Amino acid sequence: MPSGEFCVLCGRTAGPLTDGLCAACAADRTTLVTLPEQVEVVLCPTCGARLVRGAWTRAGASPVLSSEDLAPFLSVHPEAGVRSLTWEERAHTASLRELSGTAAVRFRGIERTVPLATRVRVLSRTCTDCGRRSGGYYTARLQLRGEPAPRTRRPKELRRRLDAVWSELWEEARSDWKNAFGWREELPEGWDVYFTDTLAARSMARLAKQRFGIRIVESASLFGRKNGQDIYRVTFCLRFPDAVLAAGPPAARAVPGEAVER
Ligand SMILES: [Zn+2]
Ligand SMILES: [Zn+2]
Repeated sequence: MPSGEFCVLCGRTAGPLTDGLCAACAADRTTLVTLPEQVEVVLCPTCGARLVRGAWTRAGASPVLSSEDLAPFLSVHPEAGVRSLTWEERAHTASLRELSGTAAVRFRGIERTVPLATRVRVLSRTCTDCGRRSGGYYTARLQLRGEPAPRTRRPKELRRRLDAVWSELWEEARSDWKNAFGWREELPEGWDVYFTDTLAARSMARLAKQRFGIRIVESASLFGRKNGQDIYRVTFCLRFPDAVLAAGPPAARAVPGEAVER
């Protein structure tokens, strides 16, 4: 900076000037972040997913509003960055919440806090996944079974043990696989677990293969056409050997270290 330059508002000479203003004076005269007076948050009452810009996200999120719900509505000055957003509820009716909060913003190297206020209308709408689930829609199915023969266990006992193995897998499953879980059905020969997403079902099957070294048989059946393309439903049959089902609690079990490749 050439010597002798100073902020035209406050006279400060230290620090860079932009259009004759120091960063502090520029920040005071600039709208750093704004929020509309009223916004709408669309929320699935079943799973907590939010509809943001036409897409459902955050399935499994708490139905309680958080700063994540407001972030998409902020208009931020191109030179500013929002570092944090905190807010509290001042009043609410059944469908409208009045919120006030503060955004901590960084602008040209200096920090500012900006007070914000808005009203949030919360709308309930069933998300695509929950709608499909309730309509019995699925794209893939996992069949949990014991050895085909000879049957050494009563069906009820077999299901109980398969259920225990499934619970172990479920604990290790990624949350996006879990979000694709539809429902499961009890059968004499085991369980059928339905998924609304084939990739998620395949990932669960692979996890079972790695974890227990079991064999997976995959098959597909045509169930319709969409946009000129055949749509398949995929079935993964997971057969758990008696040794796996007979084992004690996970800690006591010798887990096969090497997964057997198909
Ligand atoms: Zn200044
Ligand atoms: Zn939902």
